[in-house]
Amino acid sequence: MDFTSDNSVGASAPILQALVAANAGAAPAYGADPWTIAAERALDDVFERQTAAFMVATGTAANALAIALCAPPWGAALCHAGAHVQNDECGAPEFYSGAKLIPIEGEAGKISPRALAETLASLPKAVKQVQPAVLSLSQATECGTIYTCAEIAALAEIAHGAGLAVHMDGARFSNALVELGCTPADMSWRAGVDVLSFGATKNGALACEAVVVFDAGWLEEADDLAYRRKRAGHTLSKGRFFGAQMTAFLENGHWLDLARRANAQASALEAGLREAPGARLVWPRQANEVFVILPAAVDAALRAAGARYHGWTARALAPQDRPRADEVFVRLVASFATQTAEVDRFVDIARKTASIP
Ligand SMILES: *Cc1c(COP(=O)(O)O)cnc(C)c1O
Repeated sequence: MDFTSDNSVGASAPILQALVAANAGAAPAYGADPWTIAAERALDDVFERQTAAFMVATGTAANALAIALCAPPWGAALCHAGAHVQNDECGAPEFYSGAKLIPIEGEAGKISPRALAETLASLPKAVKQVQPAVLSLSQATECGTIYTCAEIAALAEIAHGAGLAVHMDGARFSNALVELGCTPADMSWRAGVDVLSFGATKNGALACEAVVVFDAGWLEEADDLAYRRKRAGHTLSKGRFFGAQMTAFLENGHWLDLARRANAQASALEAGLREAPGARLVWPRQANEVFVILPAAVDAALRAAGARYHGWTARALAPQDRPRADEVFVRLVASFATQTAEVDRFVDIARKTASIP
């Protein structure tokens, strides 16, 4: 029963097989290999347009490079207060770009159009202020919620109107996409996203994410990313292994199958916990994460039975929603590798323990 994160499991079998196949023989280094070229074309197909894509090994590198592409050192990158770029990347976006991250509060991990407009209004064009340069949205969010395509478009319209670029942190892009049931293009550039951190690692790759640049006006500047990535130490000399992962990830909808599996297990967890007395679901499950407040006795029984998951910060909760002294706030993440038996056992323990008076 491991629900710690979707990176606590290994890679999917087809992706590992693709790595083994790509291992044979000699190929050009630094991304000039057939696998990388195939992956770049596959990304063009998936997104229904010409893109400029740069693969890296971590989501932190993808986000930091993307933000550096969009923001000058005197710029500001606007993001949610709970965003991974703000809290979980050790300052990499600031380090790579020199820009300042400006956090925006918002319910359930989401930025509202009103909060965005207010933040923009608080940053006038004055030489004493950093200048807003990019809006960074997480899809899915750090609360496991998702923006609809219309919500992304509304935020992008405000951002573009103020001269900002729009970046999407898509570490869980696949999970959000299969839930919305729209096309990758609809959830990105058609909604106004200019640069996407397209995640594969959490959804089945070994270590592969891509910075995908959409905006046609930017494709030339995107060439700079080749230099930025190398300078950041993220240009893999055996680049074929990025290409092999991304190609296998996208082939025959493998990435969508993996995401559907993860979301279905999270959905089963949510449904099961809804029936557990004393368990309080916090945000609606919209991707592959469930946030729930459990009675402390249930938490103890689950941990005693070997279940693993992270306790979560209640900072984002309204005071009246926060866990009481006899409760614990936890995050449960399902992955493509989560087994139905794990979910069933977890829910069973939660229900049985909760019903003991
Ligand atoms: C996991 C994650 C990332 C990427 O993290 P790395 O550990 O650097 O690969 C980025 N954004 C979000 C929202 C994440 O959950």
